[in-house]
This record gives sequence, structure tokens and C-alpha cells, in this order.
Amino acid sequence: MPIFEYQCDHCKKEFEKLVFAGEEEKVHCPGCDSVEVTKKMSATSFMGPSMGTCAADAPKQFS
Ligand SMILES: [Zn+2]
Repeated sequence: MPIFEYQCDHCKKEFEKLVFAGEEEKVHCPGCDSVEVTKKMSATSFMGPSMGTCAADAPKQFS
């Protein structure tokens, strides 16, 4: 059964949802009812570098 992990972008609540094909757009947060949720990659083999985290954080320099 296709159970995916999600995290709400609004209240950061993590939850699992049984989602069938074509119903992913219907997923909403059970806590705040927001539809701004992110599907989490639960596959442990996914070890790629996380992009866009702190790469663009320019160090402050004083001379
Ligand atoms: Zn929420």
C-alpha cells in the first residue's frame, strides 16, 4: 500500500498518508488543514547532497 510521509510547510507537522495514484494533490495537513505539504523521501538509499540549504550563505567579513 502506498503510504507516504509528509511534512506540513505551515505548522511543520509530520504525518503519514495513504495516497493512491492521482490523489496526491488532495493531501492536506491533519493539524492545520493546509495543503502546503511536502512529500518526504523515506528511501534510505537516497544519499544525494541536499541542495539549496546553506550554499548561498555568504560569510560576513570585516577588514
Ligand atoms: Zn499543518
